Amino acid sequence: MVSNQQQGPEEVTLPTSGLRDWLSGASLSDLLSDRGHSADFDGLRAEYVSLRVRLLSFLFALLAPLWIPLDYFFLDSRLFLSLFSMRAAFSVSYLALAIWSGRPGSMVAARWRVFLFLLIPGLFYVGSRLLMDGSGDQEILVGYFFLPFLLVALLAVFPLALLEGVVFVLLVGAFVAGFELYAGTLFDLSTLADLWLLGLLAAIALWAELTQLHMLLRLYREATRDPLTRLVNRRVLNRWLSLEVPRAHAERRPLSVLLFDLDLFKRINDTYGHLVGDFVLRAFGELLSKEVATSLVGRYGGEEFLAILPGVDGREALAVAERIRQGCCLLSVSTREGKAVSFTTSVGVAQLAAGEDAEALIARVDQGLYQAKEAGRDLVTLAE
Ligand code: GH3
Ligand code: MG
Ligand code: MG
Repeated sequence: MVSNQQQGPEEVTLPTSGLRDWLSGASLSDLLSDRGHSADFDGLRAEYVSLRVRLLSFLFALLAPLWIPLDYFFLDSRLFLSLFSMRAAFSVSYLALAIWSGRPGSMVAARWRVFLFLLIPGLFYVGSRLLMDGSGDQEILVGYFFLPFLLVALLAVFPLALLEGVVFVLLVGAFVAGFELYAGTLFDLSTLADLWLLGLLAAIALWAELTQLHMLLRLYREATRDPLTRLVNRRVLNRWLSLEVPRAHAERRPLSVLLFDLDLFKRINDTYGHLVGDFVLRAFGELLSKEVATSLVGRYGGEEFLAILPGVDGREALAVAERIRQGCCLLSVSTREGKAVSFTTSVGVAQLAAGEDAEALIARVDQGLYQAKEAGRDLVTLAE
C-alpha cells in the first residue's frame, strides 16, 4: 500500500560533493592551524604523532647500521670510519627518540618529536655530504642524496595542520639548500631540479597530512559530540574527569561537579511529543554552555548533564548550580501550536573529597541528585 503521508520538515537531501560537504565537521581554519582544536583533540592528535615518531625512530635506529657493510666494501677506510661513527650517532639518537615516552598527550612535545625526527637525519645528511664531497664514490652516494626526499615523503604519515607541515618541509629544504649554498652549487641545474622534485613531494605530503588531520577531526567530532545539543558526550566527560581528579589532588586545589537531571521529562515527551522534548534538551544545553565558565560540560545521558568545575569548591559550585536552576525556570520552548512549554531541573553538587577517585565522586553526586528528586524536584542539593 502506498502511504500518502506528507514528507516531514526534515526532507532527505541527496549527497553532493562540494568543498563544504567534504569539510563537514571541520573548517578551513581547523586545517590551517590547531587554534580551533579542543584540548582533548590536541591530546589525541599528540598521541598519534608521538606514537608514529617513536615507531619510525625505532625502525630507523635498526636500519641505519645495516648499510655499514656496504660502506665497508665501497669506501676507503678514512671515510668508512667517519661514516661509521656518524651512523652510530644516528642510530643512538633515534633509539633515544624512540625510548622517550614523556608527555605523549602534549602537542608541544609532539612537535619537538617531529623536529628531532627530522633534525637527526638532516644533520646526518649534511655531515655525510661534507665528508664525501669530491670523494668520487658516487655509486654509494645515491643513498645519502636520497635522504631528504625520504624525509619529506615520510611527513605524510603525520596528521599535521598546514602551518606545522610547511614549517617541517622548510626545515628539510633548509638542509638541502644550505648544503648546496655552502658547496656553491645552489643554482646548478641539477640542484634546482632536486629542489623542484622536493617541492612536488612536499605538496603531496602536505595534502596527505591535511587529509589525515581532516579525517581525524571529523571522526573525533562525530564520536565525541552529541548531535542534538552539540555538547560533548559521556565518553569525553569521563576522560576529562579521569584527568582532572588526579590533577586536583596533585595540585591540592578543589574540584566540584554538578549533575543535572530534567524534572519529569518523560511527561514532556508524552504530552507534547519527542520533538518538543528534543527542543527542551537543546535549550537546556545552550543554557549550560552559557552559564558554565569552563568548557567542561556535556550530556551525560538522556536528560542528564554533567559539569566539571576545576578550582571551584562546593560552596561556589552550589551558587553556580542555583543560578542555572533559576535560569532554567525562565526558559521555555514553544510547540508547533505556539504553546510555551517550561521545564525545571534538579541538581546534585559534590566537591571532590580527599583521596576520592572519579567513580566515587560520580556516585556521590548522583546521590545528591537523588536527594533533590526525593525532596520535591527543582532543587539543588550538596552531597555529603
Ligand atoms: P525525574 O524527574 O524523576 O527525572 O523523571 P523523568 O521523567 O525525567 O525521568 P525518566 O528517567 O523516567 O525519563 C527520562 C526520559 O527522557 C525518558 C526518555 O524517553 C527521555 N529521553 C532520553 N533521551 C531523550 C532524547 O534524546 N530526546 C527526547 N525527546 N527524550 C529523551
Ligand atoms: Mg534521568
Ligand atoms: Mg529526569
